[in-house]
Amino acid sequence: MTKLKPLNPSAVVMPRSTEEVQAVMRLAYENGIPVVPRGAGTGETGGCIAMQGGIVMDLSTWDEIVEIDAKNMQVLVRPGVIHAKLNDELAKFNLFFPPDPGSSQMCTVGGMVANNASGLRAVKYGTTEQYILGLEVVLANGDVITTGGIKARCIKNVSGLNLTKLMVGSEGVLGVVTRIRLRCWPKPKARGIAMAVFDNLDDAPATVLETYQAGILPSGIEILDSSAINAVNQFKPEINLPQAEAILLFEVDGNPPSVEYEGSIIKEVAGRRARQVEWSTEPKRMAQLWEGRSVTATAAARVRPDGSRIFAGEDISVPLSKVADTLRTIRALGDKYGIKVVNYGHIGDGNVHTAPVINPENPEEVEKVLQLVDEIHRMAVELEGTTTGEHGVGAVRRQYAELEHGLAVKYMNEVKKAFDDKGIMNPGKLF
Ligand SMILES: Cc1cc2nc3c(=O)[nH]c(=O)nc-3n(C[C@H](O)[C@H](O)[C@H](O)COP(=O)(O)OP(=O)(O)OC[C@H]3O[C@@H](n4cnc5c(N)ncnc54)[C@H](O)[C@@H]3O)c2cc1C
Repeated sequence: MTKLKPLNPSAVVMPRSTEEVQAVMRLAYENGIPVVPRGAGTGETGGCIAMQGGIVMDLSTWDEIVEIDAKNMQVLVRPGVIHAKLNDELAKFNLFFPPDPGSSQMCTVGGMVANNASGLRAVKYGTTEQYILGLEVVLANGDVITTGGIKARCIKNVSGLNLTKLMVGSEGVLGVVTRIRLRCWPKPKARGIAMAVFDNLDDAPATVLETYQAGILPSGIEILDSSAINAVNQFKPEINLPQAEAILLFEVDGNPPSVEYEGSIIKEVAGRRARQVEWSTEPKRMAQLWEGRSVTATAAARVRPDGSRIFAGEDISVPLSKVADTLRTIRALGDKYGIKVVNYGHIGDGNVHTAPVINPENPEEVEKVLQLVDEIHRMAVELEGTTTGEHGVGAVRRQYAELEHGLAVKYMNEVKKAFDDKGIMNPGKLF
């Protein structure tokens, strides 16, 4: 890990039309000025920081829902729409856009496209890319392209090279996303939550696997290990999570009979290894069961009165069979560097969130935490995982590009040049 030295931008623009974005890009292209697209700024990797100064293009006020096309199960939006607001509007048509980042109340759909965001429900519903039917993108030289077909509203489409997939997750380095056509799904009618408490860490991932093997695909499966349980209880003692090596939280959604059926199987499967299992479809109890998970990130940041949580090494993803070893290794690394680390995450898809807490005013601790997160990133790749499961590379993880992708980085650079020959789109990010 390296420390970043971003510059202040020379200008911030807030465009409200494709033509305005195009005009800014033409000006920037002619003068070789860097342009950094920005949504709500909730990204955790410095993705919308102006590493080389230039223009920050803030798209957060361009938040129109252009058309909810319910009869074709899709919606057309501008980039600044907030995720939760979009789902509120879609709910009026019994539709929803399933990816569910923890930042739902703040982040923009444009930012979700650029980061290929996911979150709690990725286990069953996948990531943002699965819902993008097409995009309008303004390129570095001001050209405007439409991916997915200029007129296409169809759900299936294999025509042409798949530029939509190329743009999703490209973190603003290939162009500015100005229009998004999203596929929507029917909104599930019912929901249930199960909490399972384990005295043995290895039993948690084993239970996840056994749940899948029993034919059940929950919408989400979250883990809190002992470090997260302690952090939550210290932050809000009234939540009073059971002391354990790990807690699993399962979320199930669908039609009421299927939810009840899936809940009964989860209870049976988890009950084979867990000390305690509780299942509920009652809204108040579900909220109580989930509360520990909802406050984990905040609780993690408070484990030390003089400390701050460092967002680095916070998003590795490993194969399910290696989650328990990963958590144990991270604990050992915390001990090695003398740094408190809180572990939780989306265990259903092996996405582990680690929260090292240090005093950022203490240069010695800063040095140590940079070494700690470097070891975490390298361990993830070693374990056949990745340095980032959902937050992206941004400015903070690009030094791992060669380690993760090898020769492919050369071709990533060629693709970048094809879209942005002067290198003005969000420089200093990704690779
Ligand atoms: C509390 C919290 C919880 C979170 N939980 C999750 C989670 O569960 N899952 C998850 O995946 N992420 C999560 N995140 C990370 C973050 O919220 C998501 O990545 C989100 O999608 C970023 O959206 P944004 O609008 O804030 O984008 P920004 O942070 O503004 O930008 C992110 C990147 O996208 C680029 N970009 C933004 N808009 C555009 C555009 N229109 N065109 C081209 N490029 C663009 C930027 O240049 C930058 O590289 C969380 C963050 C927080 C603070």
